[in-house]
Amino acid sequence: MTTTPTDRQDTLAKLKKHLATTSDLEQIGALLNWDQNTYMPAGAATARGQQMATLGRLVHERRLEPSLTDYLDELDARSFDEDSDDAALLRVTRRDVAMARKIPSDFLEEFTRLQSEGQHVWAKARADADFSQFAPTLKKLVDYARRQADYLGYDDHPYDALHDLYERGSSVAKLRPMFARLREVSVPLVRDIVEKGRDIDVAPVQQSFDESKQEQFGVEAVSAFGYDFTRGRIDRTVHPFATDISQYDVRITTRYQPNFLNPALFGTMHEAGHAMYEQGSPDRFYRTPLAGGVSLGIHESQSRLWENLVGRSRAYWQHAYPRLQEVFPQLEATSLDDFYAAINKVEPSFIRVEADEITYNLHVMVRFELELAMLEGSLDVDDLPDAWNAKYEEYLGVTPPDDAIGCLQDIHWSFGALGYFPTYTLGNVISVQLFDAAKAAHPSLEDDIAAGNFTPLFTWLRENVHQHGKKYDPDVLLKKATGRDLDPQPYLDYLDRKFRSLYGI
Ligand code: ZN
Repeated sequence: MTTTPTDRQDTLAKLKKHLATTSDLEQIGALLNWDQNTYMPAGAATARGQQMATLGRLVHERRLEPSLTDYLDELDARSFDEDSDDAALLRVTRRDVAMARKIPSDFLEEFTRLQSEGQHVWAKARADADFSQFAPTLKKLVDYARRQADYLGYDDHPYDALHDLYERGSSVAKLRPMFARLREVSVPLVRDIVEKGRDIDVAPVQQSFDESKQEQFGVEAVSAFGYDFTRGRIDRTVHPFATDISQYDVRITTRYQPNFLNPALFGTMHEAGHAMYEQGSPDRFYRTPLAGGVSLGIHESQSRLWENLVGRSRAYWQHAYPRLQEVFPQLEATSLDDFYAAINKVEPSFIRVEADEITYNLHVMVRFELELAMLEGSLDVDDLPDAWNAKYEEYLGVTPPDDAIGCLQDIHWSFGALGYFPTYTLGNVISVQLFDAAKAAHPSLEDDIAAGNFTPLFTWLRENVHQHGKKYDPDVLLKKATGRDLDPQPYLDYLDRKFRSLYGI
């Protein structure tokens, strides 16, 4: 069949209309999910689960609709400029449809059921600090993850199929050398700090901090970064997150601790980093699958960049510390240097989400190695707690006293999400590559930050990362923005520089 340019425009318009409705349904689902995690009364849980399952099914069915396949068949990608939005739209849509076709509906339904059962069983096992309660369900989840990988297909390793869902183009073959390099440098660096570094006092950040003032300072901080409150809001939750209901409504949540400044302060900066990425999609991507962040790794690079490279930098506090002291007069006796040290203390610990910048990746590496072994079958699920504790001893020099703060601490495996954890470390690595590229473009970047001017950094990120949405794959985006492929070296240099100087070693 030959198509004229008019036919082509006509089909493209129909395709976009179809995708716009799907996008609306997904965003309605995001609003339901936000509500579930913030204000929904507990009694609504079952009904809300049903509503979200219905929406999920509608979205899945729309991807399998014959009319959608017809549009895609009629549109030849080769007749579009390869770098155009329309070509990207076709690529992303074809991939979504292919993915929806690969997973049989009955498997998807069983897996979804098992995932919600998994979270329930895990929560109880964690509360009781008893892995044996969760083991039988985790075995099933690992088995389902393996079957999911088989349905999706892979060349080298089943892990690649799962990891690709979160980070397209990444693989075990790329992750292994990255983690090996991180381990080579981080393990001795942590040991040096513990053995030879000076003592750092965290008392300044562990006093009583009024919650409404914490919120006030957090809102001021992220507004200054560039988070747009006319298209966002901040609420309280148990597990902080950012969610996009559309690029015009990207919300963040935070949790306040009355006696510890760090969690809400850096958590708010972190989630705002995610949110600014989503807010930065251009208007022309609205209601298309090109809107939003392209991968979890790139997403995490945005959150970690604002949280760590800005929020935990001395330059930032040069500007912000006097204001923080004004909000919290109890900090008047603490010098800028002592405060900067207190927010950057390195300490091997049990809990990933509370870890400092260096040990954080070691926590991720433990999980990467263990989930790989479970998927391969070289680690029996029953032996997970022992294997977990052995790796914590080896990499961090600590042994968790029980499973609750050991292998049961994270939620991810309870819904069968294997292949997710490495995206946290990818985010750390990429954050420094992007920050260095921004600095190369604006040599005065750190002075600007020290003067409270975040516009050069924000604008650079918007131009080089945010405005592309999902148009380019993560590796292509990174190359376009930095001129480089993924490389852990700049990140390792950054850690080495920052922490050797902080600890005087
Ligand atoms: Zn994050």
